Amino acid sequence: MKSFSSIVIILGSMLFISCQAQQEKVNYFANNAFGNPVVGNTAEYYKGVTYVAYQGEHLDPYVAAYDHKKDQWTGPYKAGTNLLGELLPDKVDSHGKPTLVVDGEGYIHLVFGGHGGTPEMGKNPLGNHHAGKQIHVKSKKPLDISQWEEVDNITPFGTYSQFFKMDNGDIYLIFRHGAHRSNWVYQVSRDNCRTFSPKVSFLKAKPVATRPDGTEDWDSWYPDFRKGRGNDIIMVYNYHFCKGGAERHDGERHHGYYMRFDTDNKTWYNVKGEELQIPVTKEYADSMTLVVHTGDRWNHIGHTCLNHDDHPHVSWYEGDYDGSKHGGLKQLVNYRWTGEEWIGGKTNLPVEARGEMKVTSPDSIQYLLGDSEGKNGELAWWLSTDGGRDFIKKEVLVEETGGRFTTSQFIRNAHPDARIVATQKIKGTNYSKVYLVGDNASIVRAKSDADILNIEELKK
Ligand code: ZN
Repeated sequence: MKSFSSIVIILGSMLFISCQAQQEKVNYFANNAFGNPVVGNTAEYYKGVTYVAYQGEHLDPYVAAYDHKKDQWTGPYKAGTNLLGELLPDKVDSHGKPTLVVDGEGYIHLVFGGHGGTPEMGKNPLGNHHAGKQIHVKSKKPLDISQWEEVDNITPFGTYSQFFKMDNGDIYLIFRHGAHRSNWVYQVSRDNCRTFSPKVSFLKAKPVATRPDGTEDWDSWYPDFRKGRGNDIIMVYNYHFCKGGAERHDGERHHGYYMRFDTDNKTWYNVKGEELQIPVTKEYADSMTLVVHTGDRWNHIGHTCLNHDDHPHVSWYEGDYDGSKHGGLKQLVNYRWTGEEWIGGKTNLPVEARGEMKVTSPDSIQYLLGDSEGKNGELAWWLSTDGGRDFIKKEVLVEETGGRFTTSQFIRNAHPDARIVATQKIKGTNYSKVYLVGDNASIVRAKSDADILNIEELKK
């Protein structure tokens, strides 16, 4: 009998082990991201944990956290309510996807929900209205994403909000002060986001001409930012010609510009080191900060980073105008500053592939790009060793059935296992899966925990 009970115990433990092994793991950590769910600065590694924010169900902000030592996920938790969700289901407005920062005391902050605000919120002194409300929330306790409270200390008129944390602990909040006829502004907090300095405009939106019907054409801007050297913020930007008349707002953007904000002395410089007067206008940008004039070609979404010589590289997506609202298919172009001039141009990278740039030497340029291969989406490194013209595909970090991957910027203070946040649309829905991807692969999670929503039910 003794041997019989041993056999039972052995069989029982084998069954237990096999059940454990059968607990299915998936490469994503959540499947309830919604719309265009991830902004550039959406995650931070802080004291052993990577914190990630994304736009989830009903366009509301959600936060998840991964403890690298314990190999343990928490969340996602809903952190606030996005007023742009009131426009659903007719309009999926992703302008209010959340940006995240962890302050010096370990509290986690998000800003989200803005697309210019509405006239009921008052006059917008630096731009125009559209919808939503820019909102700031903070975790109730340090290092704890389960409970959140609203902090009423920012304007409702922001959109494309982005947090930047400097090495000295200063936290910058950068946003466009309204809809697409608004200045771009920054504010700084030196007390862990309890208060922010007055807003400073650095890019000026302004009317350029009045049409016979009384409507106006405007100069406007689409910038993109990265942390530069020390306490610098570096910036690449494209010009938006915002049309009046019957044509109205569309995706017309041209040219590339570069400038640098030295936050230590609150001064802006062009690539030659000449001090700039802000806010920068179109005419001033053309004479002081132009990288290249794109002529009739339309472009969008810049990237910038520095190489080992601290010379900037810039890139954006550019293509021949085809008469459509967004101007046609766009492919990455890139340029670098040699110390005397900008050189570069077209690449051979896949059209519409999106991602992040990393430069190790002036000639060695890498992109981590989301693209699709047949029925699969993939996130892969592409490398150029000839200064950015010809690229070859290197390591594929994630490959999954479904659509093209999109990415955040590289994560602030990143752990090697969690360099970037990637999302992939779930076909037939407006939902996406969210991935935390490191140097070799994404961090896995039990399928039962990652499947927040029953997507098959939602498709019905
Ligand atoms: Zn416009």
